[in-house]
Amino acid sequence: MSGVNPGAYREAAARSLRDDPSVRASVGSATRTFDALRARAFADIDADRWRDWARDVKTHTLTHLDRYLDQAATRLEENGVRVHWAETAEDALAVLDDVVERHGVRTAVKAKSMLSEELEVNAHLERLGVDPVETDLGEYIIQMLGEPPSHIVGPAIHKSLAACRELFHERLGTPLDGSPDMLAAAAREALRTRFLEADLGISGGNFLAADTGSIALIENEGNIRLSTSLPKVHVAFVGIEKVVPRLEDVAGFLQLTARSATGQPIGLFVSLIQGPRRPDEIDGPEEVHVVLVDNGRSDLLADERGWEALRCVRCGACLNICPVYRQTGGHAYGWTYSGPIGAILSPGLLGLEKAMPLPHASSLCGACTEVCPVRIPIPDLLLHWRERAVEEGLAPLLESLGSRVYAGLAERPGAFGVAGGALRHTPWRPLSRALPVVGAWTQGREAPRPSPKSFRQLWDEGIE
Ligand code: SF4
Repeated sequence: MSGVNPGAYREAAARSLRDDPSVRASVGSATRTFDALRARAFADIDADRWRDWARDVKTHTLTHLDRYLDQAATRLEENGVRVHWAETAEDALAVLDDVVERHGVRTAVKAKSMLSEELEVNAHLERLGVDPVETDLGEYIIQMLGEPPSHIVGPAIHKSLAACRELFHERLGTPLDGSPDMLAAAAREALRTRFLEADLGISGGNFLAADTGSIALIENEGNIRLSTSLPKVHVAFVGIEKVVPRLEDVAGFLQLTARSATGQPIGLFVSLIQGPRRPDEIDGPEEVHVVLVDNGRSDLLADERGWEALRCVRCGACLNICPVYRQTGGHAYGWTYSGPIGAILSPGLLGLEKAMPLPHASSLCGACTEVCPVRIPIPDLLLHWRERAVEEGLAPLLESLGSRVYAGLAERPGAFGVAGGALRHTPWRPLSRALPVVGAWTQGREAPRPSPKSFRQLWDEGIE
């Protein structure tokens, strides 16, 4: 995978903050808006009950995944869909080789799909001589710029309106002061021809109902519906964790996901795809392929703690509220999934070594867990990956050393008391500025002053 570089997180984040302040401004403003809309949408419903329900359905499905995947595959085949099981990204992409060759595909229209980013579908299509066209407005913008998405839901949120105006002026001839509506109309016009000439439509899948074999797709622009119904062939890449037991569950998840992502009660368009066009239908593809993609998910499912990240419905709410993500946007994270969910998914899907130091890209403030609609305990999982990093010798040397020294002291009450006493009599504030790591942290804030008395002293004196 050529586009994988979480290892450069620290440098990339520093570069973004130093060289392009407009990213911080655009991401900050967009994420605050998304988060305010989410909060308002959740005020209308019994949020705790919905979130418990969603967590339980997802957990149940993940703990019986083989059964529900088999059921889904059977139903899909009964509906006339060709089902492919892809253990790796290469297996998934091989499905395209066959489709492209058999149908002489020259152009493909693509609906927004994080899994297709993960698999690097566009690069593969280009290698096959196919022109892939992103049809979601945000994806269309970043494709013109040659950039990866910066956010799960709003791929171009790091771009200011001024930057988009310049881009559209250059590429589509709109005036430099064009309104957002005018830019959207120009994109729609340019894309209309591409939809009509495309031989292949590619999508992801938000949910897959095992009992009916239906793929559910949510959107606001109508481009997914066109991408999946106009071309003669449709290929949907669906992560194995996207299956849910019943179509009835999909109805609940559609509402919960839209409320978390954009504050809408439900997406403007919901497509339920059940197979190729039937003889009495006037539109729809002649051939539908569903590629059930593992690509590291089974390994993550086997992880004693990390598996909970697979409940994610990709709503982006944890990115919107994260004080770390808000500073840099998604590119610094170096892979498809950014923000808090990226920091717990990437170690599982890529392997911890490749994903370092993402589990450290968090202050552990817990805001992400407060908003997650499927109650993923993100800070606990970040700590889980940090612990694993220490065990596997992947943690920064200073952190490992610090943890060992602390653990050694904590196990010896006498030594702990002596160390605590020494700390209380140290001129801590000037010292903290001179220390590595702590020094950088205290550049913008005051180090907390140690308590004049230890907890034990207070205890012995009788804490009220
Ligand atoms: S971890 Fe939770 S909040 Fe974050 S994208 Fe996934 S479902 Fe949404």
